[in-house]
Formats: sequence, structure tokens, C-alpha cells
Amino acid sequence: MRVQVLVVGAGPVGMTAASELRRYGVSVRIVDRAPERTDKSKALVLWSRTLELLDRAGSPVDGAAPFVAAGFKANAVNFVAADGDIAGRIALDSVKSPYPYGLMIPQSDTERLLDERLGKLGITVERRIELVRFVERPDLVEAILRHPDGHEETVQADWLLGCDGAHSAVRHGLGASFAGETMDSDWMLADVHMRGYPFPDSEASVYWHRDGVFVIFPISPGRYRVIADLPGTGQEHPAAPTLEEAQAIMTRRGPPGLVAFDPIWLAGFRINGRKVADYRHGRAFLLGDAAHVHSPAGGQGMNTGMQDAFNLAWKLAMVVRGKAREGLLESFSAERSKVGDEVLKSAGRLTVIGTLKNPVAQAVRDTVAHALMGLTAVRHKLADTMTEVTIGYPGSPLNGPASGASPKPGERWRPTVGHRPPGGGGTPLFSLFADRNDAALGLTRRFDAILDPDIQTPPEGGCIWLVRPDGYVACSTSEADEVARYLEKIAVGG
Ligand SMILES: Cc1cc2nc3c(=O)[nH]c(=O)nc-3n(C[C@H](O)[C@H](O)[C@H](O)COP(=O)(O)OP(=O)(O)OC[C@H]3O[C@@H](n4cnc5c(N)ncnc54)[C@H](O)[C@@H]3O)c2cc1C
Repeated sequence: MRVQVLVVGAGPVGMTAASELRRYGVSVRIVDRAPERTDKSKALVLWSRTLELLDRAGSPVDGAAPFVAAGFKANAVNFVAADGDIAGRIALDSVKSPYPYGLMIPQSDTERLLDERLGKLGITVERRIELVRFVERPDLVEAILRHPDGHEETVQADWLLGCDGAHSAVRHGLGASFAGETMDSDWMLADVHMRGYPFPDSEASVYWHRDGVFVIFPISPGRYRVIADLPGTGQEHPAAPTLEEAQAIMTRRGPPGLVAFDPIWLAGFRINGRKVADYRHGRAFLLGDAAHVHSPAGGQGMNTGMQDAFNLAWKLAMVVRGKAREGLLESFSAERSKVGDEVLKSAGRLTVIGTLKNPVAQAVRDTVAHALMGLTAVRHKLADTMTEVTIGYPGSPLNGPASGASPKPGERWRPTVGHRPPGGGGTPLFSLFADRNDAALGLTRRFDAILDPDIQTPPEGGCIWLVRPDGYVACSTSEADEVARYLEKIAVGG
């Protein structure tokens, strides 16, 4: 049996990739060795940019609406210094997005909604099926899948997507090195019910205590995730704390009067910062935790993985459907590996800042943070970074000519409520934002296989913006010929 794309792993990243590919008309199989979806809350937040990207899928999946309906909006993060004073408060309502908040939603619910999305698109995750090995041939991949009764099936796929998590069999099969390091400290995680939280339930808080960091995320009213670093024991899998141990850390590091009860999930973990150098190896791609793992500081892990999937899906769909040249796929690793490097760096930096142990360094951190977070521009920038609306591809090989007007090639095309976002519908198409004149109409006729026929109104007359299906600017120019030359390089037969 031959399929266009085989997705290995039905975590949030595999399901995002499969649903995007399917809605763009690609034949997909998605397999997972686990008997069922995770019931753990793991990644808790969907950031603004991920919601914008989810929102591109219209009927029958209803965009980001099911996620927003199931989640809880967090609209600020407070930083509390070692002396108990507030070092700063980052409000998220300044973020220019239809979703100016962090949507708190347990990963188990995100996965349930992605599974439902797949169902609406006619795909069922094939569970208890494990990829055991694969061979790459020049024009296909042959994958061996083991079924629950032990029999092995050979699947031929045009492309293989490794979305199989931190211990990825696809990554091992490719022999790709997962370079990086493991931090010395142990960490504790407790999802608990709690009384005595001094901030509104819609706000998270980070306590920079003398002993280490202590973070509280609201999950839903009365329910919270708390995380703290602990002295390292050197064990690969630190023990889960008891409720009493979690309470002792809360009492010591948190605000007075916090009382935890009815725990939902208690876990211990260590932090790895690791990444592959290349996300593409011939006909196989690595996405999500299979390609990068890092500190949970900033809550970027799952979002980064889902955005890997959004980036690849439209490119692969265009190639699989014979609309774009294969060279388009080269940009996937170039763009996403760079984002991965930045996420690793910033999550690592945030972790180091939060876990400083030297009292002098702690005092400097608290003073500098207080001064910086007193500045409106700094607060807005931090809010934009946290919600991932600043992610872009400034050095991408896919960037075309730039007129100087904003947004520039590689930058996000900000979606606005009530306007159709680029990349919706059942075919991956570039969108044209331009004055409706003969030149623009000529472009839509000539490149009808990859360009949306509906020309949309530009923010500035006289300038043409070509926007990719994942909502990033491809080029901006005043010359329709330049857009034509750009599209010629991408389109088959262009
Ligand atoms: C304790 C904990 C807390 C976390 N907290 C946060 C957080 O606060 N914020 C955040 O952003 N992230 C957090 N994460 C990380 C987040 O959960 C991951 O980034 C996210 O799950 C990655 O998604 P994924 O789809 O790439 O991989 P996974 O969710 O790991 O999914 C991979 C899937 O592949 C399947 N699979 C593996 N091998 C095979 C095979 N050979 N054949 C078939 N199927 C296979 C697995 O069964 C699994 O379902 C946390 C993780 C943990 C463990």
C-alpha cells in the first residue's frame, strides 16, 4: 500500500501535521505506538501565534474556536523578586493579535481537540502501531510498522514525518545527532488545587526565591501548575514529589498562605537542551520534540513543534500535489532550525536567570529586571516574544524582494478579525494583497495553481504583498513583474 505521507507519532505535532496535510488534499496515514492519547496536562499553553495558525483551517474544523472554548485565558505574568517585591508585570493585552493572551489548556485537551479535528477531516489515528525501522529509496520510503498482534507491515510512503517525540525512532534511523546537554538540577512539577493565590486567577507568577525559582500557572479557576528547581540528585528520572513535599516548597518559596490539595499530577523531571542540526534528511523530516527539546521556561516547546508542522505542511502539500518544485522543501530546515536555535537559547537563558544561586547575582537580576520591566516598550516586547507573534524568518532563502514597507519578507502577516487569513481552504495558496489592477489580475490568472484568485486589499496603496499560506510575507514590491519572477521559481512549469 502506498501513501503520500506517513506521519509517525500522534502527539500534538504529528496530529497538527496530519490535519494540515489532509485539509490540503494530501493522503496521510498517522500511526502511534501508544494505545491512547496522553491523559497528562504536560504543555499547558497555546500562545497567540499558534492560535492564529490553527485558525486558518475553516469548515469543517472551525479554526481555533474549539480550543478557545475549552481553554482559559491568562493575560499577565508577574515576577516576584527574592525580597518579595514585585519586580515586574507583563500584561499580554498589548499584543496585536486576535488572541492577545496565553490560552491555558492542558495538553490532554489540546490533543483531544486535534484528534477531533482529524476525525472531521476523515482521518483516524492508527494506535498500537509502532515504526520499527525504515529504508529510504530514491523515490520513496519503505517503513516497517509493527501491529499489536506482532505482525509487521511494509508501507511505502513518498515522505516520512518523524513526529515521534524526544526518543524518536525516525531520528535514530537517520543517525542524526541530538546535540546538547542535560542540566544538573532536578525539577518538580505539581498540578494541584490550591487556596491562597494572591494574584487574579488569570495571571501566572514567577517567584525568584533565594533557593531557586518557583512558578505558578493557572490552569482553570482553583487549579494550578507549580514548578520548582531542586538540588540535582544525578538521577535520570527524578522521583515525583509527594503532595507534602510540594507543599513544603510552596510554603518556603511562594507567597504566604498557599495551601495545595487534591493533586492531579505530581512529577519529577530533568531539563535537556538538545537539537538536531538538520530537520530534513532526504525524504524524511523531523519535527517537534524529535528535532528539539529544551527547558519548559517560557512554555514554548509544544508551540514550537506545532509551528514546525504548520511550516512544513503547506510546502509538502504543494510539492506532493505537483504544484511546486521540490526545492521549496529546502526552506523548512533553514527556517525552523533557526527558530529552534533561538528557542533553545532563550529558554536556557530564562532558566539560568531564574535559578541563579549567588545572592549578589540575584540582587543584580532583581534590580535590572525591575528597571527594565518598568519600561513600557520592554514590557510590550517581552509580551510579543512570549506569545510568539515576533517569530519570523528574516534570513529565509524563501524571502523575495523587499520594498521597505512593513511587514517585510519573512515577517508575520498580522491576521485581523473578520478577514480571511492566508492559507485557509482546501488548497495551499499564496495570497496577494494589492490594488486590483490588470497586472495583479494577470498574476492570479498565470499562477492559478499556487495563487489565491481573490486579491485582498493592501494596507498601503501602490505596494504589492505576496503572503505565504502560513501567513508570513514572501515579498513586498511595487512591481508585479517581481512577484511573477518570485512565483516562477516556486511553481512547477512556472
Ligand atoms: C513533565 C512534562 C512537562 C511539560 N511541560 C511543558 C510545558 O509546560 N510547556 C511546553 O511547551 N511543553 C511542555 N512539555 C513538553 C511537551 O509535552 C512536548 O514539547 C510535546 O509533547 C511535544 O510534542 P510532540 O508531538 O513532538 O511529541 P510527543 O508529545 O512526545 O508525541 C510523540 C508521539 O510519538 C509516539 N511514538 C514514539 N515513538 C514511536 C514509534 N516508534 N512508532 C510510533 N509512534 C511512536 C509516542 O507514543 C507519542 O504519542 C512537557 C513535557 C513533560 C514530559
